[in-house]
Amino acid sequence: MWRSGELLPWEEARIHVNAVGHASAAAVFEGIKAYRAADGERLLLFRLREHLERLRTSARICRLDLPYSTDEMVDAVVRTIRANGYRDDAYIRPWAFPEGIIREQMVPAGARCELVVDTWPFDSGLKRTQGCRAAVSSWLRISDASTPPRVKAFSNYHNGRLALMEARENGHDWPILLNERHKVTEGAAACLALVRDGVVITPSLTSGVLDSITRSTALTLLRELGVPVEEREVDRTELYLADELFFMGTAWEILPVTSIDGLPVGTGVPGPVTGRLEAAYTRLVRGESGEHRDWFTELHI
Ligand code: PMP
Repeated sequence: MWRSGELLPWEEARIHVNAVGHASAAAVFEGIKAYRAADGERLLLFRLREHLERLRTSARICRLDLPYSTDEMVDAVVRTIRANGYRDDAYIRPWAFPEGIIREQMVPAGARCELVVDTWPFDSGLKRTQGCRAAVSSWLRISDASTPPRVKAFSNYHNGRLALMEARENGHDWPILLNERHKVTEGAAACLALVRDGVVITPSLTSGVLDSITRSTALTLLRELGVPVEEREVDRTELYLADELFFMGTAWEILPVTSIDGLPVGTGVPGPVTGRLEAAYTRLVRGESGEHRDWFTELHI
């Protein structure tokens, strides 16, 4: 692991128990993927810089002092990946938390942070053939007026976790949360879009969603494929009329939704627009399309 300026063996990255609880209310993080290129010769870190810039925006909104520039954090991630000798897909988790022992629940503004970079292997779900079952949650999404969803903070995941447990209890795979105006927002840890009459529609960034890097990637790819895209408020009942529905996020990649609140989405199997997007996303992240070179940090393996 990389911790606040140095690489150290994973089991030595320790912390006092009193440093955990209160500091965790003010901890922010990122989730990033390194894909093994189709040529087998490179690891492609996807939109690393954008993720680390989002970590900086999360720290800024939470008034945390993250004492590393984006360049320094890029270097920390690259060093961690190299030190682990990855030759295959790896998930990267940089996270920042107030340093030292904090006994105040109200972690003071300007608290200086430690930064940790952890990594582990992952199995990509791309090219999956099955979709998932989603359900609208009775829990509302956190709002910009209380606990901003634009911030990628661990404490936000209390909301998604409650919704996920409810969805699983009721026999579904993933929840979809509505905002305080009862408009559609996102899933527990992924954004969402529907397809109706050939148009892809996704809740706008002011609906109460994370400014997702996969969402922005997907919208770019769809426009390049000539698919019209709308970013706007989405009603719950539009989900029931959708021809296709899919989640999008770093971890979930492009995940088709085949049932919503027990109703089949379209014909009940992943649809053609989702399929084209997933294929384009796969070619992109595996370095096969050769496009958007500035989105990649390449490491030879
Ligand atoms: N919404 C939430 C709540 C998330 O946790 C994530 C995963 N980071 C996303 C959306 C998708 O964001 P991204 O595409 O940047 O991973």
